Amino acid sequence: FHYFFDKCEIDQAAWKTYCRVNERFAEYINKVAAPDDIVWIQDFHLLMVPHYLRQMRPDQEMHFFLHIPFPHRDIFSILPWEGEILRSLLCCDTVGFHHKQYLRNFLDEVEGYRKERAEHGVETIFKGRKPVFYVNPISIDFDRIDTASRKKEVIDKKNEIRAKINCPKMILGVDRMDYSKGLKRRLLGVENLLAARPELKGKFFYYQLVMPSREAVGAYKAFKKEVEELVGRINGKFTEGLWSPVHYNYGTVPFEELVALYSAADIALVTPLRDGMNLVCKEYIAAHSDGDGVLILSKFAGAIAEIRNCISVNPYSVEDIARAIHEALNMPEGERRGKMEKMRKNIGENNIARWLDKCRGYFAKSHKGFIR
Ligand code: UDP
Repeated sequence: FHYFFDKCEIDQAAWKTYCRVNERFAEYINKVAAPDDIVWIQDFHLLMVPHYLRQMRPDQEMHFFLHIPFPHRDIFSILPWEGEILRSLLCCDTVGFHHKQYLRNFLDEVEGYRKERAEHGVETIFKGRKPVFYVNPISIDFDRIDTASRKKEVIDKKNEIRAKINCPKMILGVDRMDYSKGLKRRLLGVENLLAARPELKGKFFYYQLVMPSREAVGAYKAFKKEVEELVGRINGKFTEGLWSPVHYNYGTVPFEELVALYSAADIALVTPLRDGMNLVCKEYIAAHSDGDGVLILSKFAGAIAEIRNCISVNPYSVEDIARAIHEALNMPEGERRGKMEKMRKNIGENNIARWLDKCRGYFAKSHKGFIR
């Protein structure tokens, strides 16, 4: 789903286990849900639940939302089980996505698969159902973060962070330890900038909070090692006196501390190689009730469709990351504030409550088209 198809291992036994786990979720829903309940299934872990649940509950109202990208058909059709997944999603009354490109890819995939297999009778894939497909980018509880950022304790914490690392500019990254987040190229971007412009030594520091994720998975373990070696190498190369360019924190922080970190940062560096939405960038905006701050955002994050006033970056290009950081460091205050104001207005209005209302609207729409 995130275009890392070289990491894809085609393994029947793993697929069977995935299906069995999904079936158990369906069995449990079947046990606890009343016939007039709305069943809303979320995300890639549960793609096959609609298939099993539909067999148990032919008339159950059932919706699906995908929180990760839906890839182009060239990638998705690598999965030998593409047909099973499509049929499962098409059992739902609605299927929602964060970005119009994900929906386009999904519809192309349905159409391509249908054409390819027409001779085997798969053109009946819809089986009389007319699911509603929609795009609705998820958001955050803007007011909760905005309110927290104005609290005295949070402001004190923010000042404490800045005082501890006495340096003109703070750049922040907040990510799960995941190879889709672009952490390595981001670090290389910092290295590239410092190598090209040594005069920036001591002028900024990059604070990277990395939340532990899937620590038992081999690929994640190996990635963590690579990230940590890179941090060590870059700090080894550029540290001068008490200043070092990268502050690395592997762990999680409580909500108010996270808001303090966001509001302490002059620049947020959000460079996933591919991300369904990315909430960190929206949280950063919500935490900047001071009206200042610059957001650097990957052009491959779903959030880019809504956030026009960021510095857009190609997360695969180390040079482009260095260019974006340099641009952010030099952006005049008036321009920063103008852009932040627009981003705050947009995210403040399109908050999580509105997302939920819109989803409910699509549920209601599906009642008209669905044949029960
Ligand atoms: N986050 C957290 N603990 C922390 C730091 C951050 O739970 O110590 C949260 C953060 O507030 C955000 C989420 O982790 O809501 C990351 O979401 P995002 O959509 O950016 O990426 P995902 O992890 O879903 O791929």
